[in-house]
Amino acid sequence: MFDSHIHSSISSDSTLEAADAIRAMKEKKIGGVFTEHYDFGYPEAGAFLFDPDTYFSKYDSLRSSRCFLGVELGLVPGYGEESADLVRSHPFDYVIGSIHVVENIDIYYPEFYAGRSKLETYGAYFEAMEACILEFSDFDALGHIDYIARYAPYSDPEVWSEPELHPNVDRVLRALIETGRVLELNTRRIKSSADFDAIRPIYARYVELGGHAVTIGSDAHSCERIGWKLQEAYAFISSLGLKAAVFQKRQLIRL
Ligand SMILES: [Zn+2]
Ligand SMILES: [Zn+2]
Repeated sequence: MFDSHIHSSISSDSTLEAADAIRAMKEKKIGGVFTEHYDFGYPEAGAFLFDPDTYFSKYDSLRSSRCFLGVELGLVPGYGEESADLVRSHPFDYVIGSIHVVENIDIYYPEFYAGRSKLETYGAYFEAMEACILEFSDFDALGHIDYIARYAPYSDPEVWSEPELHPNVDRVLRALIETGRVLELNTRRIKSSADFDAIRPIYARYVELGGHAVTIGSDAHSCERIGWKLQEAYAFISSLGLKAAVFQKRQLIRL
């Protein structure tokens, strides 16, 4: 099993040392992929950037058949070319594309939701996601499609509980499949089997539309969270007929 979403201290919001992360992977008998934050166009300029040359010179010796080096690109409209240049000019194994910012606000912040309905904010979120999938040609997996549900203040933050949003989700999944990318299953929000049930319809729809594989990642920023609910996630995707994918040298490997 592989945890394909880990943030070490290269990411500006993590203090996890890479050597400690690798020790945790070995203890848990899993492989892992470092996916450090790189957000072009973040509202607070430079907040989530790193020097890729430093990353590769420091981490190259950590590479093995059980440890790959990736990046989590923050997707903001207008930065498609710059991000393609970044990933093509460095030897990343794996690139996650993630929406963190919508309408120039990190959707982590309550201001994004203030005075707005769930349909309005989630609609804007999925529109930004669809536009970025079409603009950004160079990522491998769409990160945490349910990211907004981590922070939205509504009594029911789940995406699929709003039928009006199903066409938005469909357009995102179709765009992803048609452009040869895969969906990620991010386990950070998962506490119990009920949380798998809440996201199951999204992944079932992905299968209906022709999706075959997903990457699985914990989004860990600490040793304890590495491999979080990984075994359960593998069982969940296989119950839907999906295969677990890992990327090495930007090539999809199915486990
Ligand atoms: Zn993210
Ligand atoms: Zn992340």
